[in-house]
Amino acid sequence: MLVVMKAQAGPADIAQVCERIEALGFKSHIIPGEQRTAIGITGNSGPIDTAEFEHLPGVAEAIRVSKSYKLVSRETKPENTVVLVNGVAVGGREIVLCGGPCSVESREQILESARAVKAAGGELLRGGAYKPRTSPYSFQGLAEEGLRYLADAREETGLGIVTEAVDTETFELVESYADCIQIGARNMQNFSLLRRAGRSQKPVLLKRGMSSTLEEFLMAAEYILSEGNYKVILCERGVRTFADHTRNTLDLSIVPAVQILSHLPIIVDPSHGTGKRDKVIPMALASIAAGASGLIVEVHPVPERALSDGYQSLNPIEFAEMANECRAIAELLADKRRIASLQKNDLGLRGKRAINGD
Ligand code: PEP
Ligand code: MN
Repeated sequence: MLVVMKAQAGPADIAQVCERIEALGFKSHIIPGEQRTAIGITGNSGPIDTAEFEHLPGVAEAIRVSKSYKLVSRETKPENTVVLVNGVAVGGREIVLCGGPCSVESREQILESARAVKAAGGELLRGGAYKPRTSPYSFQGLAEEGLRYLADAREETGLGIVTEAVDTETFELVESYADCIQIGARNMQNFSLLRRAGRSQKPVLLKRGMSSTLEEFLMAAEYILSEGNYKVILCERGVRTFADHTRNTLDLSIVPAVQILSHLPIIVDPSHGTGKRDKVIPMALASIAAGASGLIVEVHPVPERALSDGYQSLNPIEFAEMANECRAIAELLADKRRIASLQKNDLGLRGKRAINGD
């Protein structure tokens, strides 16, 4: 259920609706929009009578949301969500490039990577301090030491840090350093971790599980929003298929599919999405052409010596080339992106009129 407020509704009207929702034993989610505020309701096991809210001051209408995911749905919020990461807008008009190594390996390595990312016009720095590795004998990351080196790199370059939290035990520590917390593909359905991320004040980068459907992906994001954190960026990173010419199959069609169903921004990881360096740049360009809001790409000063994922990491020169080509494509499609986002907003508004379930 969604309670849509009139454009002129004030804070007192909004508070009154929230009080009514909480009094019924449900949770309220205030969703500010360009034209009006909406209030999402979660925690109800069955349909709620729209009459509970329609008579309250400032309420325009109460509508049932037809999708199983509510807060991430465009029905709930027609406008695109823009997530700010250390002052960088993800999901706005400009594409955002995030680069850095798979793992933080040393202070020098992350500083060199950060300088390369910055020089190429990248705005965010990635690097794992806690690594979810397939083998327990592989390098597992430098833990807090790695987080400290990331903070040093931010201090020197000004780049915001994106780094992964792999469990609830270390979440708080990661949160204290990160500008954006990554939830990896293997943890996309770790519901306690998702809920913990939902109680964070920091933005979350949620990667698609390697065999998850679009619906499961959006439901995972819904876990985070349902706890009150609306700053979620989705990330396509390839799925498992029979194909063996790549590590994963990058499913770029999910970019427009997400943009129709959800207001959340979606970026693409062509590094894990292909697993092969020679395919990273072509798929990065294709991602931008497909309308992604940005990229997260593995970059290492000397990929051949990387402790993890070197075979899919770009060197600084390749990253700079990729960045230039991506910007050229984004520039070429700038008007198309603007029109598409207007149309999506319109679709969202029209979609609301045809809703029948809850
Ligand atoms: C990573 O970003 O280094 C990573 C492990 O990604 P994913 O969870 O997509 O495999
Ligand atoms: Mn990696």
